[in-house]
Amino acid sequence: MIPERMKALVLEGFGQPLRLSQVPLPAVGPSDVLVRVGACGVGLTVVNLLATPGRVDRYPRIPGHEIAGEVVAVGSEVRSVRPGQRVTNHFYLTCGQCRHCRAGRETLCLAPRGNVGQNRDGGYAEYVSLPERNVVAIPDGVSDVDAAVASDAIATPFHACVKEARLAPGDRVLVIGAAGGVGIHMVQMARLCGARVLAADLGRDRLDFIERHAGADTLVDARSGDIAAQVMAATGGEGVDAVIDIVASRSTLPAALASLGMGGRLVLVGAHPPAVYGEDPGFIVDPIRFLHRALEIHASRYVSLAEIERTLGLVREGRIRPVVTEVGTLEQVPELHESIARGRSLGRVAIAFPG
Ligand SMILES: [Zn+2]
Repeated sequence: MIPERMKALVLEGFGQPLRLSQVPLPAVGPSDVLVRVGACGVGLTVVNLLATPGRVDRYPRIPGHEIAGEVVAVGSEVRSVRPGQRVTNHFYLTCGQCRHCRAGRETLCLAPRGNVGQNRDGGYAEYVSLPERNVVAIPDGVSDVDAAVASDAIATPFHACVKEARLAPGDRVLVIGAAGGVGIHMVQMARLCGARVLAADLGRDRLDFIERHAGADTLVDARSGDIAAQVMAATGGEGVDAVIDIVASRSTLPAALASLGMGGRLVLVGAHPPAVYGEDPGFIVDPIRFLHRALEIHASRYVSLAEIERTLGLVREGRIRPVVTEVGTLEQVPELHESIARGRSLGRVAIAFPG
């Protein structure tokens, strides 16, 4: 039985608190699928979205984009998905027709339509309507919470490690922000690629957490001194082959550059928007530093649909273990956001709906 109304967290306008409301179920167009939400990830992307003016195109809006659940209805033109299937989703709304979409690089779409939870209602609700093109089947044996987290917080490390950092066995990689929701899976993924991982975060508790849930070859405490100096000491003065910076702030970016060895790749994954942190992350760098060491800069822009599928396979096989430290309810989302914004959360946080 599909009800007529549902519980959702609704954003009525920029800067307003999320309000728990009863709203009509979302419309299901001819090429849409209606999903009963089983779980939805809660991360920094939504926190940044709520704090940055101009990101949401229209109100009211329901945020939430790391969704997993069961398909309960499909539009008249949907062919690849049936009611009863479990799916997770891709975050970007794309055209499916341009040369990048056709090449499987959907995040470079030339006619993008925005993002789930931003330009279309998302998963902080009991039901969500998603384009058929955005859904990916969840393999048996992977829970809704793990699948939701896999669609972003684990798939993003897959793309960053494989396509951008191009990690190979024996490479040395520094992960900055390694105890967070994306970072903890980045360390696991980098190890799966065969790299020697140096994991940096702030303070003993966060480093212990990394040790426990991902393992790392070297732990770097950013609180106890210069990151680059610690990296150089741990690599015999050579530096690392890649740095994956998930924080990307004014303090981490220069440290990331200074940690790179010859031919090193700097991979930007995180964002540090001034609207959220009150600090401009920009800094000036002399291009000769890039020339002398033949450095590369890579901007890691989310993932492809195929990478979500691969990631779900790795989770099913137990090669990557989702680290979900807190599973709350829809009502608890505002306090979960608060804890994430203050940098207090460890691993990934999600909400689940009673099934
Ligand atoms: Zn496109």
